[in-house]
Amino acid sequence: LVVLKDVQKHFGDLHVLRDINLEIGKGEVVVVIGPSGSGKSTLCRAINRLETVESGTITIDGKALPEEGKALAQLRADVGMVFQSFNLFAHKTILDNVTLGPIKVRKQKKADAEKRGMELLERVGVAQQAQKFPAQLSGGQQQRVAIARSLAMDPKVMLFDEPTSALDPEMINEVLDVMVGLAKEGMTMIVVTHEMGFARKAANRVVFMADGQIVEENTPEEFFTHPKSDRAKDFLGKIL
Ligand code: ATP
Ligand code: MG
Repeated sequence: LVVLKDVQKHFGDLHVLRDINLEIGKGEVVVVIGPSGSGKSTLCRAINRLETVESGTITIDGKALPEEGKALAQLRADVGMVFQSFNLFAHKTILDNVTLGPIKVRKQKKADAEKRGMELLERVGVAQQAQKFPAQLSGGQQQRVAIARSLAMDPKVMLFDEPTSALDPEMINEVLDVMVGLAKEGMTMIVVTHEMGFARKAANRVVFMADGQIVEENTPEEFFTHPKSDRAKDFLGKIL
C-alpha cells in the first residue's frame, strides 16, 4: 500500500534519509524505532508530503505523491497523521474538530459527519466530551480525539509520530489501547514509538533506523530478542 524506493533527503549537509526502501502492505502495522535524530519523523513527514524528498519515489496505493493543489489535499485525507502534540483546533468543540475535515475535504453533509463523528468519539471513549473544548480535556483524551479526527477522513493508512511521548504515564495506555484496537481491525499503520509493549502486541514488523538509514527490520519477537546489528544492540541496551 505504501512503497518507498531509493528515497534520499538532505537538510543542508545532513543526509537525513539515506536510500530508504520500505514496503508496507495493506493491514500491516510497522513500528519505526531508532535513536533521536535518526530520521523517523522526517520519514513520516515525507510519506504525508509535509517534507519533499530529493530523489526516489513514494507511492500510496499505487499513486505517486502529488506536488500540490487538490490532489495533495486528497493525499493528506488518505494518510492520517497523529503527532506528539495533539494539534486540535483550540477554539472548536471536540465534535467540530472531528467533523471539520469530512465536511470540508470529503464534502459530507453536516448531519452525516456528526453522526459518524459521534460514533468515532464513542469508539475512542470521549463521546461524553463532544461539546467541550480541547483545553478542557486531559492529554490522553485529546490524543484520542486526534485519532478520531484522523479516522473520520477514512484514511488508507495512519501515521503516528510518538503519539504517547508527551503524555503522563497513566494516560499512555488509554491511547495505546485505541491504537491496538485499530491494528486488530486491520488498519495499515506506521508508528514511531519506543513503547515496546505496543510493538510486541500490535506490530507485524519493527524497522530500526539510525543515521537516516534502515539498519534492520524484523518481527518484534526477533528484533527485541536477537537484534543483529551493533547499532540495534546498543540502542536496545539503552532503552530496555
Ligand atoms: P527524534 O527521536 O528526536 O524525534 P527523529 O528520528 O524523528 O528524532 P528527525 O526529526 O527526522 O529525527 O530529524 C533527523 C535529523 O534532521 C535531525 O538531526 C534533525 O535535527 C534534522 N532536521 C529535522 N528537521 C529539520 C529541518 N526542518 N531543517 C534542518 N534540519 C532538520
Ligand atoms: Mg521525531
